[in-house]
Amino acid sequence: MMTYSLVCADGHDPETITVEAMGDEEAMTKMMVKSKAHLDVNHSEMASMTEEQSRAFISSHWTKT
Ligand SMILES: [Zn+2]
Repeated sequence: MMTYSLVCADGHDPETITVEAMGDEEAMTKMMVKSKAHLDVNHSEMASMTEEQSRAFISSHWTKT
């Protein structure tokens, strides 16, 4: 298992979204769900991002440990 962490500090105090997964695909699926909740509340301006854009954003910002 790896832990994937996505830190968002865009306009608010840093908030870390973490998921545990066996690999990138599983992590992405989980991260899409968790990050969507965060985006809906904090970044409604990003609601128009396509799923592809969201995936690109997540995979370029997450760290694996
Ligand atoms: Zn945020």
